[in-house]
Amino acid sequence: MIDVLIVGGGGAGLRAALAVAETDPSLTVAVLSKVYPMRSHTVSAEGGAAAVIGAGDSLDEHCYDTISGGDWLCDQDAVEAFVAEAPRELIQLEHWGCPWSREPDGRVAVRPFGGMKRQRTWYAADKTGFHLLHTLFQTTLKYPDIVRYDEWYVTQLIVDDGRVHGVVAVEMRTGRVEAIPARTVILATGGCGRAFPFTTNATIKTGDGMALAYRAGAPLKDMEFVQYHPTGLPFTGILITEAARAEGGWLINKDGYRYLQDYDLGRPTPAPKLRSMELGPRDRLSQAFVHEQRKGRTADTPYGPVVYLDLRHLGEDKIDARIPFVRELCRSYQNLDPATDLIPVRPVVHYMMGGVHTDLDGATPVAGLYAAGETACVSINGANRLGSNSLSEILVFGRRAGTAAAEFARTHREGEPPAVRSQGDDERRRLTRAREGRANGERVAVLREEMQHTLEGAAGIYRGGDVLAKAADTLAELCERALKARADDTSAVFNTEMINLLELRAMLDVARTIVACALNRQESRGAHQRTDFPVRDDGAFLAHSLVHRAPDGTPSVGLLPVTITRWPPGERVYGRD
Ligand SMILES: Cc1cc2nc3c(=O)[nH]c(=O)nc-3n(C[C@H](O)[C@H](O)[C@H](O)COP(=O)(O)OP(=O)(O)OC[C@H]3O[C@@H](n4cnc5c(N)ncnc54)[C@H](O)[C@@H]3O)c2cc1C
Repeated sequence: MIDVLIVGGGGAGLRAALAVAETDPSLTVAVLSKVYPMRSHTVSAEGGAAAVIGAGDSLDEHCYDTISGGDWLCDQDAVEAFVAEAPRELIQLEHWGCPWSREPDGRVAVRPFGGMKRQRTWYAADKTGFHLLHTLFQTTLKYPDIVRYDEWYVTQLIVDDGRVHGVVAVEMRTGRVEAIPARTVILATGGCGRAFPFTTNATIKTGDGMALAYRAGAPLKDMEFVQYHPTGLPFTGILITEAARAEGGWLINKDGYRYLQDYDLGRPTPAPKLRSMELGPRDRLSQAFVHEQRKGRTADTPYGPVVYLDLRHLGEDKIDARIPFVRELCRSYQNLDPATDLIPVRPVVHYMMGGVHTDLDGATPVAGLYAAGETACVSINGANRLGSNSLSEILVFGRRAGTAAAEFARTHREGEPPAVRSQGDDERRRLTRAREGRANGERVAVLREEMQHTLEGAAGIYRGGDVLAKAADTLAELCERALKARADDTSAVFNTEMINLLELRAMLDVARTIVACALNRQESRGAHQRTDFPVRDDGAFLAHSLVHRAPDGTPSVGLLPVTITRWPPGERVYGRD
């Protein structure tokens, strides 16, 4: 039996695998992924990874930025652990071969990032995720005992009596459905941006792990907090990294005016000189866009209203040295050159602050089940993640989950229960029925689009109670319709239509939790802005949302206190020049 089965071959999954292999080489570890590991979304991260380095910065300052950036919804014990371990992780990556960009004197280079008052974002040009994932992947190859299941798709967790015993998965190449027994399972399946119509996220980011855990009885946490990144290319949703603004880029409206000066992005602090208003927190910048649009100061394009990112004053040399990928993306996908042209941009769904509820070691309330990375909510991101904290988070908590799962597997040696076989057989029958489809059902793409627009309409940058309540009903109805969806492809080999249907069902489950949590939170905090409850209400809502799946499939939302250690709730601040 596999000791530690990791679902997901992105940064969190591979870091967890390495932690297991290094903790106890006698344990068996498997990484199962629906795409080859190097195609996981981590590969597309551009800007960098945050960790305190060098003089002038301190762990406490990184903690404070993270906590105030998260509008006091982060668990402060988690943030303290994260900030303390992040530098060690990035140095470890260096030792494994990650080519961090350097200053001329050879020291690791860092750049400023939104909401961070000090420069602490390590980077490898603007292809940080590529180098980070490559480094982890090549390091896993040193351990031949890490078994890989590439292009396998997990459809269900096998849970019996409150304890996980493995997964059921489809081998996509053959359509074979297998129950894979395991002593522990780590979910490292990434986010769920694809539940929205316009996102920076790869098509594989469909919230599968969140749905798997939720259906297996583990609660999800803080699902209402969805991060919009202020600068996506208007048609494709391709991200123009925050590094472009960190290097000095400006945001201007259709009149060429740096409009952010008109908005309260947080009280300016006197200290830091390196700040500019373009480096305010992402939630505030995305909200400012909506106000510009209402004032008629955005430009109309066939792909919606836009403002512009202006990099022209940086000059060709700096663009090529620091953000070459931005130039490459603009040329290939927008047919313009940022050295001479303005880049049209608009806010785009980017990241899920919420996810599977875990403790500081990634453990969920289901024994033996762990979660790490974007699919988990530990929580260090609170109501708004600061850019560049996520890449460090997947390393710190990937390692922690791997170590904890290894320990659990070592101390729980019981054999395979009958549930593995019986649940595997049941799921195989269900999947065969779904693959055979129904001739008169609706198409997956139609249902998916309806879900995406419902979710964006209700749980976008601004939300209102009436629309959310209506969306909750629409999504419940879409779930019913998705059970009867039609599949045109009934073959077993690489049946991507079937996988799309399973992904749709996962996204629908996640979408319902987003709407339910957003409806329940009658205040505005970070990325969750209620038009009918416009202020933060610490008296009632300085608490996480915790959502369980009721037996009839509806989300049931409760609250869980936030852990405050040293930083009592205050006003959010960030610096300006
Ligand atoms: C364009 C872009 C740029 C970004 N830039 C930055 C940045 O500069 N700095 C930063 O800190 N953060 C950045 N982020 C966020 C950050 O990259 C992600 O949050 C992080 O990489 C997520 O890593 P992960 O390991 O949790 O998941 P992922 O890398 O998304 O990996 C998920 C894995 O799970 C597998 N999987 C999913 N479902 C299943 C299933 N049902 N069965 C089997 N396998 C499954 C997938 O195959 C994949 O291997 C960026 C995100 C995007 C989209």
